[in-house]
Amino acid sequence: MAASQTFAIVGAGLAGAKAAEALRREGFEGRVVLIGEEAARPYERPPLSKAYLRGEAGFDRVAVHKERFYSDHDIELLTSSPVRSLDLRERRLELEGASSVRYDRLLLATGASPRRLALEGAGLAGVHYLRDIGQADALGRAIRSAGRVAVIGAGWIGCEVAASAREMGAEVTLIEMASVPLESVLGPEVGAVYRDLHADQGVDLRMGATVKALRGGAAVEAVELGGGEVVPADVVVVGVGVAPRTELLAGEGAAGLAVEDGVVVDQGLATTVPGVYAAGDVASALHPLYRSRIRLEHWSAALNQGRDVARAMLGQHLSYERIPYFYSDQYDLSMEYTGWAPRWARVVFRGDVAGRQFVAFWLDDADRVLAGMNVNVWEVTEAIEAMIRSGRPVDVERLTDPDTDLATLAGSSA
Ligand SMILES: Cc1cc2nc3c(=O)[nH]c(=O)nc-3n(C[C@H](O)[C@H](O)[C@H](O)COP(=O)(O)OP(=O)(O)OC[C@H]3O[C@@H](n4cnc5c(N)ncnc54)[C@H](O)[C@@H]3O)c2cc1C
Repeated sequence: MAASQTFAIVGAGLAGAKAAEALRREGFEGRVVLIGEEAARPYERPPLSKAYLRGEAGFDRVAVHKERFYSDHDIELLTSSPVRSLDLRERRLELEGASSVRYDRLLLATGASPRRLALEGAGLAGVHYLRDIGQADALGRAIRSAGRVAVIGAGWIGCEVAASAREMGAEVTLIEMASVPLESVLGPEVGAVYRDLHADQGVDLRMGATVKALRGGAAVEAVELGGGEVVPADVVVVGVGVAPRTELLAGEGAAGLAVEDGVVVDQGLATTVPGVYAAGDVASALHPLYRSRIRLEHWSAALNQGRDVARAMLGQHLSYERIPYFYSDQYDLSMEYTGWAPRWARVVFRGDVAGRQFVAFWLDDADRVLAGMNVNVWEVTEAIEAMIRSGRPVDVERLTDPDTDLATLAGSSA
């Protein structure tokens, strides 16, 4: 690849930063421009609802690279530089402040942003969303001085913020439409584990509840539920999902670039426009194993797609086939989830569910493993991956017997 070429990356998050790093590691000698709208250099978001929120980790612990990394590797990191428009035909990006960047290859790594609540009172002071470091700082301060925190939405972010807020000493109410936390991802059985976990920690759980309005004067004072109940709160945190950031692609300049719940990319992370790629939360990528497009909102996908897409940008063959993986930490419950199971036939357990030390498996109707989640049990991810990749039915009795070695079982089902 010619040293005179410019590779531009829009979005200086984890995927963007890892791509820039990998371009240099792969020996690319041209210009690398990493453009981000945030003031901070690239950082990892998972700690924002965990240790960073609680004040147990500072920025240096969450930054993707040390400050000098970018200049040391001749990566032009442009912070506080939102890209306002792009012209894919001219291969040009327009940045705020009238500067522009011409590129030869482009990576879109713009991530996702929180869905907003559209109801009365949603704009009151004291209502928080959590995506970036500034929001984490503001939320941390608010929780520290608040008595009562209401969290709307018991997905991953909502559950983790509820756990951190409890650990920070606040009274916490967790409000969710489904019957248990995390029901849409994990189902009722494993969701119940999280329900009991939060209840044991003193969280007031309002499941099966809708939110009618947020009430208050100068600032929020309460959440009014659909049934008329009123939950007093000094701080309200909204965690009702995220949407891929594709606003840049709405204009004429992006004509020809397919967008459907994210930027449409093939298994090599290439978009429908030659020379343009996407990675991380914004990418809806064809996965060869699942034979469908999936958009992941996971740290590991941003890390690995960011790393791997550099090879595709350099003209090497790429087939991104990694099995989805994510993790979550709440109180003393840490878990890893491996796989992708938008639907399943049943969930089976191995280990001590009540003692919160177990592995759950999501199976299809032929007893093939679609996903596995290890809770306070470690070093089973490889075995779970092998079972998923094999696509073969497992012996469920042995799978759920803690005395059967998972690696051996994975070998025999493969
Ligand atoms: C609080 C929190 C906790 C999380 N915890 C976990 C966890 O425990 N486990 C897990 O697996 N995942 C977790 N995640 C998800 C994980 O952090 C994301 O999947 C990951 O950050 C995605 O990385 P990304 O680089 O694709 O996007 P982002 O990290 O969102 O980075 C995209 C960047 O692009 C910038 N940008 C967007 N548009 C423009 C533009 N036009 N011009 C310039 N810059 C632009 C954005 O400002 C942003 O900085 C968590 C996320 C959050 C918010």
